[in-house]
Amino acid sequence: MLAASRRWHAQGLKVGLVPTMGALHAGHLSLIEAARGENAIVVVSIFVNPIQFGPGEDFARYPREPAHDADLLSGAGVDAIYRPSVEVMYPAGSATRVRVSGVADPLEGVARPGHFEGVATVVTKLFTAVEPDRAYFGQKDAQQAAVVKRLARDLDFPIEIRVCATAREADGLALSSRNAYLGPDERKAALALSSALRLAAAAHAAGEHRPEQLRKVLCERLGAEPLAQVEYAEVVDPETFRPRGSLAVLAVGIGKTSLIDNHDLSKVFPG
Ligand code: AMP
Repeated sequence: MLAASRRWHAQGLKVGLVPTMGALHAGHLSLIEAARGENAIVVVSIFVNPIQFGPGEDFARYPREPAHDADLLSGAGVDAIYRPSVEVMYPAGSATRVRVSGVADPLEGVARPGHFEGVATVVTKLFTAVEPDRAYFGQKDAQQAAVVKRLARDLDFPIEIRVCATAREADGLALSSRNAYLGPDERKAALALSSALRLAAAAHAAGEHRPEQLRKVLCERLGAEPLAQVEYAEVVDPETFRPRGSLAVLAVGIGKTSLIDNHDLSKVFPG
């Protein structure tokens, strides 16, 4: 991978990297589209990263769909797919982890201990393997994008971090590889997330800017959905993920599936 990237750079070509865990959908394609618009070369990495999953999480059953991914990517104008094995990423004896503090600590950091350490470590290794000029992440995983920005700055990676808007189903549900886990009733219940964000954005537009009140709007809508278990629902600063700001962030269990979504309440909710 690195040799290819260095050959492209020697020809003066810019390289854009889109890191993914596969089971690709239109959200991933929108990142690829953005990368194509700004770089001569687009690399998509596919790696289900074991160290970002906690012991009770879904690493073993996370959807792996290589044929579907290859199909989807065949028409997407991608120049290379980088799909390292777990043994290549973490050979026996591998013992180093990258830990970002501050922005990685609250919310997902509390709900999923060790998650961002796994993300930061794999992103560092992908950056080292691909040496991209730009890397593309989704606003869907807002805290992850903030962690990656911090990481790139702190470790002096000369890489521009681009964050792309969340792609949604027509009814508002944020696209996610994990939506495949949802049964029909759960799929309906999952609408509670985007619906809560839409209501909170409407309250914000109507002049309600108090975080506690906005949080109440979120919790009331989520509470009305019997299948939804709120893990967190907060209104935070989009860079630090500390209280005070206008980014509403949600993590909600729907049956056995944990879904996240977010929206900047100072903006109109799409759709
Ligand atoms: P994943 O394969 O779930 O790790 O996601 C790979 C990248 O795609 C991450 O940067 C995600 O934030 C991004 N992504 C996932 N879902 C969406 C979506 N619905 N819209 C935009 N980007 C997304």
